Amino acid sequence: MFELGGHLVYNVFVYDTLFWQKSGIGGNYFFMECYLDNGATTAVSPSAVAAAKRAMEEVWGNPSSLHRRGIDAFLLLQQCRETVAGVLGCDREEVTFTSGATESNNLALFGAARAKKRRGNRIVTTAFEHSSVIAAAGKLETEGFEVIFVPPEPDGTLPAEKIAQAVDENTILVSTMLVNNELGTVLDIPKIGRLIRRKNKEVLFHCDGVQAFCKIPFKVSRLGVDLMSVSAHKIHGPKGVGALYVKKGVRIQPLLYGGAQEKKLRPGTEGVPMIAAFAAAAQESAQKMLPSQEKVAELNRVLRERLAALDGVVLNSPADASPYILNLSVLGIRSEIMLHALEEQGIYVSSGSACAKGEPSHVLSAMGME
Ligand code: PMP
Repeated sequence: MFELGGHLVYNVFVYDTLFWQKSGIGGNYFFMECYLDNGATTAVSPSAVAAAKRAMEEVWGNPSSLHRRGIDAFLLLQQCRETVAGVLGCDREEVTFTSGATESNNLALFGAARAKKRRGNRIVTTAFEHSSVIAAAGKLETEGFEVIFVPPEPDGTLPAEKIAQAVDENTILVSTMLVNNELGTVLDIPKIGRLIRRKNKEVLFHCDGVQAFCKIPFKVSRLGVDLMSVSAHKIHGPKGVGALYVKKGVRIQPLLYGGAQEKKLRPGTEGVPMIAAFAAAAQESAQKMLPSQEKVAELNRVLRERLAALDGVVLNSPADASPYILNLSVLGIRSEIMLHALEEQGIYVSSGSACAKGEPSHVLSAMGME
């Protein structure tokens, strides 16, 4: 079907599908849009919009104020913390709200490295982390830390043993994602936790849980991690809000200074409306997680089967990847050209991580692809 150019030029991520129909001009035809880019962001759910609106219109006090307006906002904030903690599977004191997972990842890496720098110098992460981990780790490298970026296997998997091998006596932090955002690779976080602690009991373990939260059932307290980042806009909440799970007893340094909010770990007046919307989205997505997972797994199976039957299509995601993500190449066709051709048909996909904006994928490069 397509010219076999031998180059990897096309990567599409297929996330959970969202179909809707639009009435066309004259009202007698329907244009079907097929949004397959939910790994980049999701449509905000009506319950999240309603929660934000209520917080803006009715509960607009400063949660740190001592009068009734403030107390109402504080109580709403605590309720939201309880909800997000319930979905994550931890205590509410372990949830710190942030502006999203980029901030959560930066807070985890810089916060842990600075808190532990007297104990050691090595940080272990993977070569296919989200750019917010890769870049934060790169910055720490320029500050004198030794950073090991463990590459995935050519098939996109990454065994726990390979990560543990890089851990030594001098290691203070390990950061690995639960689900890779470009391939859908699922990492065995409990096993990584066990293996790295066998080599070094003092190491802090951070996990980027963005693409797993509300998609794969887990309890963060049972994963063996100390820190986990999540984001609202991947689960039908708004952009600009997320959280960092910080296990009880774990001390990391803040990135910002200037207030006592979020136990001084993330000072600044809390964005109550965004947090309220985040909590509403988390609750709804958690309730829908299992039926949605079944539906998405079936869609993924059909899509893989049909794509595999086409000439020149190569599936890059591992066979046991999260069903929410599918990465493929169409040999001989540039990804952007294919992206826009599909867009004309009302089909929305990604040609790479939205955060990389057109740069070649560091994830596929790490797998050894051109
Ligand atoms: N980590 C992963 C795995 C992601 O997919 C993303 C979003 N692309 C982020 C972190 C960053 O999240 P946010 O957009 O909330 O900053």
